[in-house]
Amino acid sequence: MTIEASTGALERARKAYGELVARGLSLDLTRGKPAPEQLGLSDALLALPGTGRYRAADGSDVRNYGNLRGLRELREIFAGPLQVPADQLLAAGNSSLELMHDCLVHALLGVVPGAESRWADQERIAFLCPVPGYDRHFFLCERFGIEMIPVPMTDDGPDMDEVERLAAADPAVKGIWCVPKYSNPSGVCFSDETTARLAAMPTAAPDFRIFWDNAYAVHHLTDEPVEIADLLAACAAAGNPDRALVFGSTSKITTAGSGVAFFGASEANLDWLLAKNAKRSIGPDKVNQLRHAMFLRDEEGVRAHMERQRALLQPKFDAVARILEAELGGTGLAAWTSPKGGYFVTLDVPEGCAKEVVRRAAEAGIVLTPAGATHPYGNDPRDATIRLAPSYPSLEELEQAVEGLAVCVRLVGEERRNG
Ligand code: PLP
Repeated sequence: MTIEASTGALERARKAYGELVARGLSLDLTRGKPAPEQLGLSDALLALPGTGRYRAADGSDVRNYGNLRGLRELREIFAGPLQVPADQLLAAGNSSLELMHDCLVHALLGVVPGAESRWADQERIAFLCPVPGYDRHFFLCERFGIEMIPVPMTDDGPDMDEVERLAAADPAVKGIWCVPKYSNPSGVCFSDETTARLAAMPTAAPDFRIFWDNAYAVHHLTDEPVEIADLLAACAAAGNPDRALVFGSTSKITTAGSGVAFFGASEANLDWLLAKNAKRSIGPDKVNQLRHAMFLRDEEGVRAHMERQRALLQPKFDAVARILEAELGGTGLAAWTSPKGGYFVTLDVPEGCAKEVVRRAAEAGIVLTPAGATHPYGNDPRDATIRLAPSYPSLEELEQAVEGLAVCVRLVGEERRNG
């Protein structure tokens, strides 16, 4: 670009930004929450199970204490989507994040199968953290003093050469965070080879665990649903049956605050968690589990329901892609993901610009997830990654927010170009 053209682009970007600020917007693109219309798809849940309906399929009274494994009929519905046999799947409370938290606490304060001692008794504990990743996984590590080792994501999942090297070299490396399908925030789906290597790789820690957070197992956005390999089966086949801890929930299927969470693992891990949970609770909310089983009915019911979710979500993801392409395509100032499912789009801006884009957007009334949130300790060394969550705002608000965001990217980018 000539100096004149570049200065002209900067002036245009400044003018557009001034106009944006003058509009006095108040928009929020931060958290991946379902929109009210998505929650409305599950309205019928609120009337279930209904007066006088309190028997599970096995005849037990769901209103009473007991049944730490959760209702069998609901576990059967989710066995397929989560790739865990119903016998090895627990239906628990309303949050899978809570289950991940509990597994960490129990591993720190108890002894996981295969461990020589409690994690809390060891000098140092570390987890591998594919980046960009889910901020709440990182918060859990911070909360418990677990060191985080970033590993770059590729189009096939985490860089497996790096994962294998780190896991084999250091007995303090006790685990890895994985969102294997439509990853938060990159949308990446793990290839079969990645899953096979995770299952079979030698680890210096005998008690290494894969936290397989399959939060978006059925959250497709295209006609070609992505299938991933079965980690639990791969670990068992590779002689590491206790390595996989599978998590999932209906938070973004039915209702985010009152869904049902699941945990799948080997018998040894299940016995371990059930023994610990038995001290913590006398049983999960089985009334909620019954209403979910009645509402979703079977795997086909889940599929049909997720089609209705997709009908609401896809236009929003399409709008993000369309506006980013129209406003930033060919400028060299941004690259973005086109996820085939899940809840997020990752926007990459020139190195050193993400924080400034987020700051300028906030000044214009558009709240974005803080730059750095996608990395351990909130530190994105390139300061380039911004996570966009298109689900919650209305389509109109979303369009305004993404158009405004593009104005901010152009402004910050042109300011950098002009030194
Ligand atoms: N895991 C991932 C990857 C998520 O993106 C989210 C929510 O955004 C959660 C877990 C939270 O799940 P839950 O509502 O079951 O606690």
